[in-house]
Amino acid sequence: MHEDLERLDRVDRLDREMADRQRKLETLERKLGEAGAAVTAAEQEVAQREASLTENRDEQRVLQRKLSDYRNNRSSAVRLLETGQGDPEAAERQVQRCDALIDEAETALLELLEAQDEREAAKEASEQSLQQARAHQQALADAAPTERAALEEERSTMAAERTSVYAQLPREIVSRYDHWQSRQKWAVARVVDGTCDACQMDVAAQHLADLKRGLVAPCRRCHRWLIPPRA
Ligand SMILES: [Zn+2]
Repeated sequence: MHEDLERLDRVDRLDREMADRQRKLETLERKLGEAGAAVTAAEQEVAQREASLTENRDEQRVLQRKLSDYRNNRSSAVRLLETGQGDPEAAERQVQRCDALIDEAETALLELLEAQDEREAAKEASEQSLQQARAHQQALADAAPTERAALEEERSTMAAERTSVYAQLPREIVSRYDHWQSRQKWAVARVVDGTCDACQMDVAAQHLADLKRGLVAPCRRCHRWLIPPRA
């Protein structure tokens, strides 16, 4: 194989490896971001559950006050009846009205108590979710510096090697290579099972033989440099 093809092969492999490390770094940062967002969402959920529980308790307090008013009103009416003062029919109507109101308020209070149980369970569940989200975020944050450093170190080792191999390439090859890269495309393809692995075009036996004996002969369809399989 031509020595320029050897160098192109190496530069291409390094570029792909570096792109892989870059993707892993981006994935790492994305996961950290997602874990942070999950914690924020879980905190909001807990706050909502707490607000809903507070609202329930406030409603219970309002009902308790009403109940106590109704019971007081009923007691005054009963006292009027017992002492024979005032209008007994009006007092009797007041007792009945109070009984109805007390019944209604007690029913509503029971419903609120049931709802309170549900809301407390929901709040506990949301607090557990928050704990899990925080633990997940913490684990990621703890591991991130080491992972990030390892990926960056690999990438910079590769970049150093790439710089030295790339520097040995002729100018016209470098400029074509850069042109492919500027279009976000790989400049180098490999012959795998007799076809170009970038465009799937069959590589003729003669073309393959030319590559092996040291010619630089790009793919006839996609025009990428072709690397023959290693013997
Ligand atoms: Zn091709």
